[in-house]
Formats: sequence, structure tokens, C-alpha cells
Amino acid sequence: MPGRVPEHVIQQIVRSVDFVRLAGRWCDLKKKGRNYWGLCPFHEEKTPSFSVDAENGLYYCFGCKEGGNAFTLLQKLEGLTFSEALARLAAEAGVDLSQYAGESGPSRGEMGRLREVNELATSFYQKCLEKGRGSKGARDYLSKRGFTGDSVRAWRLGYAPEGWDNFLKCARGRSYEDQWLVRAGLALERPAEGRAAGCYDRFRNRLMFPIADATGRTIAFGARALKAEDEPKYLNSPETPLFSKGRSFFGLAQAKEAMRSSKTAVVLEGYTDVIMAHQCGVQETVAVLGTALTEDHARTLGRLCERVVLVFDADEAGQKSAVHSIDVLLNSDLQIYVAELPAGQDPCDFLLAEGGEAFRKRLKESRGFFEFRLGVARSQRDTATIEGKMAAFRDVAEMALVVRENARRDMIVRWLAQELGVRESHAWDYVRQRDGRRQVPAPQRAAGGSGRLSADQALPGELLGLLLCHPEAVSEAAERLNSELLPDCAEKQVLERVLSAGAKGGPWETRRFVNSLDDPVLAAAASRAMAEEEARAQRIKEASAEQRLRGYLDYVERKEMAAAGATVPADDEDLREYVRRLKEQDERSAPSG
Ligand SMILES: [Zn+2]
Repeated sequence: MPGRVPEHVIQQIVRSVDFVRLAGRWCDLKKKGRNYWGLCPFHEEKTPSFSVDAENGLYYCFGCKEGGNAFTLLQKLEGLTFSEALARLAAEAGVDLSQYAGESGPSRGEMGRLREVNELATSFYQKCLEKGRGSKGARDYLSKRGFTGDSVRAWRLGYAPEGWDNFLKCARGRSYEDQWLVRAGLALERPAEGRAAGCYDRFRNRLMFPIADATGRTIAFGARALKAEDEPKYLNSPETPLFSKGRSFFGLAQAKEAMRSSKTAVVLEGYTDVIMAHQCGVQETVAVLGTALTEDHARTLGRLCERVVLVFDADEAGQKSAVHSIDVLLNSDLQIYVAELPAGQDPCDFLLAEGGEAFRKRLKESRGFFEFRLGVARSQRDTATIEGKMAAFRDVAEMALVVRENARRDMIVRWLAQELGVRESHAWDYVRQRDGRRQVPAPQRAAGGSGRLSADQALPGELLGLLLCHPEAVSEAAERLNSELLPDCAEKQVLERVLSAGAKGGPWETRRFVNSLDDPVLAAAASRAMAEEEARAQRIKEASAEQRLRGYLDYVERKEMAAAGATVPADDEDLREYVRRLKEQDERSAPSG
């Protein structure tokens, strides 16, 4: 994985990527006007609203509003991180990034070696399962649990034979030194106590589940004991330069397509649960690797979907949801749902007994996390009494308190108080007492008093679009525009970067700029602003881009003067009217859907 790659190298990679061909892997693109159009890979549609700007290397969907550059495309469609996307594009462009590998981090050559060793192990264990001696127990276990031959092959399941050096011999036969196996977590070093030090296989007489990265390459293994006396029942690869359990999922490569199209991830806990879910057609399913969800996990999920469904059995639902590091999810942008299975059944049992449709039905009936948690609290407390109500309130409010975003937390507390019929003042007393630093919100102001024109909300996006499409105007805008007066949004953040680049002077290149935005939210804002500006320019014939830009700049300047307490000039109303008229016209002619 690349460390710090210089900007000019990134730009060299961006320039050599044929963006239309890249985006064309997910949809058929046809040229229409300046852009290419196709069916959006981010949402279901019958008429093309996905536009590709070949010149600047941007995409934007007028239907679902997804947008961004080559990096965000790979991040979102393939579930890669920024540096993985960069590495992928570099490989396609034939640019060698090995010299930029972090100094302390493993070099690219080393990572490649570790991947090779993991791949070798995967195929070695696979062969051992098929026909190796002693593998009958593993095969019997798989068929007893109901796994088909197709599943076993698709997931590349394997068997690590009994004995101390089966895989070691295989790897030595291919000239891999033992140290590579140790680094990859496949072998252990025997302490040298009087006799010669050496290595031995980590995995012995175990059923092997390869753990892959988002692109499907094996990076580690989960290994299940086949004898009851072998401890632990599940043994995982240790953390290696390739593998960190706090970042990895089991099944991500297989699930990401379905996660993206359904906008949902079903997160389970066991390898066999995930394989069975896929076998039964529930493909948006992954598992964490014996760890709670981390922020890295949440980010990966967030790139691919909007909803996460956790599956609990009815017995464990109460305790588990309270301790399951749910706080990470509660503080992400993901919507969290909980699906329940009958007491005592794990997903694999349930799927085998009831089938994929029944499992889907459970997923469909899943409840939002707080609703679910309230249900648990109600079943455990006697909410007919005031004490019981308060106790149930405390149970759930405890979870609401981990939400860091104040507005959301307040909403949950209000909702909860209402649901339980607890007086809001009591609810806030409790919350205040639990969290001293916290300010109890003032009563909500009457709506409508914000004093901000609704047209203002669109200003940053419209200005940004104008400047990106008409870079010759950047320096004038940099001189005149006080962006502080604009409402906060991603468009404003990008706009401010444009202005500061413009203020520095020097050559401006839109393609370069939009491909240097490595935050997917900002890249999406830029591509949205540009695509919408182009559509707007075609609809509004009355004013040239230059006139419109002047209109916007004048408008913001007058706002500034008004904010500074100056007398509002007489023609301020005219400008407002002008902007309003443009807006109206824009809305009238906006494409539907
Ligand atoms: Zn779309």
C-alpha cells in the first residue's frame, strides 16, 4: 500500500486513466453532447441519468445524486480505501509506487511476497481438503452443516492436515524461506532450547476459511478445530502487515456488489453463518472477525451502503445490543437495524432449517436500533408503573448518550420520553445528571424565523459550478467573494479551496483540481456542482455565465454590507429578485426524478 504519494504522481496517474473506460466497466456509456451517459451503477433505473465528464474525469447521477472522481468511483463501487484505489489505478497506468511506501511500513515487494504466500496456502489447503489424507472429518463436517460443493469451492475452503510441517514443506519446495511464513502468520518459530531452532505450521488439523481483502485476495485465515479437545475452537491468523482484524470483514469481496445495490449490509459473527447466507441467496452478508465493530469497519460499510442490519437471537438480544460496541455505529452515518431470530438459533441453523426467504422476512421485519432497544426495555420493565417507565427510559437513554452529535441525541431523548410517557423535563434532568458537560437545549424556536433566503442554500453549489466550468473567473471571485456569508456545506468547503488556489494565482486546471480532492464527500460535491451547472447553463439562456457570476457576487457583497450594518442599497431588492427569478426558472425546467 502506498505511503505518501506526491501530488504530481497522483496527477500523472489520473491523466493516464481513461475515465470513460473505467466507468464503462459498470455501465454502457454513450456519447451525447459533451458527456457520456449510461444507466447509473449506484441505483436502479431504466433511462440513463448517469453522466460522465471524460475531460475532467468526473461522474454524476442526476437521479440519485452520486458523484465524484476516479478514486471515489473505485472506493464506492469496489469498497476500496483511497490508497487502495490509488494503488489500483497506478497499477493500471503502469506507474510504480513502490518508492513511496512508508519508511517504517512494509515495502510493496514485501506485501507482494506475503500475498503470494497466502495464495499458496489457500490453494494448498484447498487441495488437502479435496483429496488429502485425514480430510474426511473436515468434509463430513461441511456436508453435515449443509454446505454445497459450490459453496466450498466459491469460498475456497480448505483443510490444514495433521502434522507439524506439511505447509512448510510445500512452501520450501517453492523456495520460500521460513521467515515469510512466519511473517504471514502461517508458521511459528520454535524457541531454541538446547536444540536447533526451527519453525512449525500454525494451523494443524483444522478446517480453513480464507479471509480475503475487498478485492478477493487472501490475507489471513480463520481455522476451526475438528476435534473437540483442540483449543481454541476458532484460531485466526495473527495481525500481519496484510491483515488487521479491526479493519477486515469475512466475505466483503463476495458481498460488496449486493451491499451496494441493496444499500444494506447484514453483519453476522461467524464464517459459517456468512457462507450459508450467501448459499441461501442473502448476499449482502459479511462477518466481523471475533471483534467488535471498529470505526474502520464503519467507514468501509459507509462507503458501500446506508443501512446495517445486526442479527441477534431473541435470548441474547438484550445483553448483546448493550455491549456490542454499538457506539461506533451510532456515531456513524449508517442507519442501524436489528433483526431477531428465534431463541437459541444462530443464523446458520435458521437458514438451513427455514431457508433464505424466511431469513429475508426476518430482515424485512427488523426494527430501528432504538425502537428495538425500547422493545427490549419494555419486556424487562413494568412500564405500567412510574418507576418502571423511568427504568426503561434509563435503559435506552444510556445508549442515546453515546451519540456524540447533539441534535441527534436530543431527537432520540425526546422521542423516547414521548414513547414512554415520561415528562420531558424529567428526561432532560436525567440526561443532564448523566452528562454534566452537556447543555440542555433551549425550547425550539418558532419555525420560519431564520431570516435566510432559501436561495442561499443553493448559492455555494451554484457558485462552485460556475467557477469549475469557467475557471477564467476564479481570480475575480477570489478577489471579491467573502465565503463566510455562505451557508456551511461540502460545496462551500470545495469553493473555499478553489478561492484560495485562485488567490495564489498560477495556472489553473479544473481536472487537476477535482482529482486532488481525496475526500469522497468533497469530490462528490465538485462533480455535482459541475454537472448541475452544465445542465443549468443549457436551460438558462437569458444570462451568460459571466453575468450570472456577477449577479451572485454582487448579491453576496450586498449581504455583506447589510450584515455589517450598512444601509441596504436601493437595488438590493432587485438583486434578490434577480437571483430568485433565476432560481425559479431553474426549478421549473429541472429534470424530474
Ligand atoms: Zn444514480
